Amino acid sequence: MNKEVDLAIIGAGPAGMSAAIYGSRAGLNTVMIDSGAPGGKLLKTYHIANYPGVPEVNGADLAASMFEQSTAFGAEYMYGKVVEVNAQKEITLEDGSQISAKAVILAMGTQEAMMGIPNEKANIGHGVSFCAVCDGAFFRDMPVIVVGSNNAAIEEANFLTMFASKVTILVEGLEIQADPSVQKYLENQPKIEVLHETKPLEVCSEKGRVTGLIVDEKGQKKTLEAKGIFPYQGQNPMSSALKSLDILDSRGYVLVDENRMTKVAGIYAAGDIIAKDLRQIVTATSDGAIAAQHANKMIKMKKY
Ligand SMILES: Cc1cc2nc3c(=O)[nH]c(=O)nc-3n(C[C@H](O)[C@H](O)[C@H](O)COP(=O)(O)OP(=O)(O)OC[C@H]3O[C@@H](n4cnc5c(N)ncnc54)[C@H](O)[C@@H]3O)c2cc1C
Repeated sequence: MNKEVDLAIIGAGPAGMSAAIYGSRAGLNTVMIDSGAPGGKLLKTYHIANYPGVPEVNGADLAASMFEQSTAFGAEYMYGKVVEVNAQKEITLEDGSQISAKAVILAMGTQEAMMGIPNEKANIGHGVSFCAVCDGAFFRDMPVIVVGSNNAAIEEANFLTMFASKVTILVEGLEIQADPSVQKYLENQPKIEVLHETKPLEVCSEKGRVTGLIVDEKGQKKTLEAKGIFPYQGQNPMSSALKSLDILDSRGYVLVDENRMTKVAGIYAAGDIIAKDLRQIVTATSDGAIAAQHANKMIKMKKY
């Protein structure tokens, strides 16, 4: 084993960072591993208005202050992609290095679901993007399409109006799914057009760049011009490293008890990767705190 710690946290999004605060503050030798920059989905979110105590905040700013707090009590941040976790609480990283822990908290979150249509995969990074905050500025004065109508879709469509000449939102059914408070972004927004009962069929491209999207609008096939396509049609759990543990539900989310512990003693999960109803920053930070608190109790009682 390259490294031995009390608590290993996989993922440095809100759930992982909250777990790091509670674990390290309780005196546990804590490491937080992430395959990207610390912050998780906060880095992809422009505007957050529902995290208690912080009425209006930019996602990257919240990520920076959470990260500072999460390492202030001694937790270590480590860059690396975890490829396997076993029941002995041994973690293997992509580069072959290994970490052994008394307790593990799985906080890998989710990733955006693909539309699953022809030419989509080949155009990721060439006009198809899953992050408006990261890539929106590349589409200045160009038409873009947002696929989906959940909170994230409408918030990001609103963000894209800062750059794009036009933002077309495709709604699969008759109703927009976003909460009423989020739908207000659509009011008095001349750049946004909403197409109901419209499904994406195929991404169009020329010379390696997206040029449009073939859609089915109320049973009629047509091509919408677009230089950027932003799918926001739900999420898939990042649980491929957990296959051998037998702790997943049929959709790949991690099953936990009220202490956020899986059926494998000492292996916990927190945040969006859990099988639950509400996937938000506030629930992710809550899960992280509960998991770390219980892990600390079990470690102090030498139950690992
Ligand atoms: C566009 C958008 C807008 C949103 N707006 C809001 C909002 O306004 N308010 C709100 O409350 N919520 C919002 N959310 C939801 C919120 O961002 C998530 O609920 C929250 O980030 C979940 O935190 P998490 O720590 O569980 O997961 P994540 O934030 O997804 O973090 C998971 C981390 O794990 C890392 N990771 C994954 N797999 C591995 C691996 N194998 N090895 C190492 N590291 C790994 C990832 O790199 C990532 O950093 C929004 C989400 C999106 C996409």
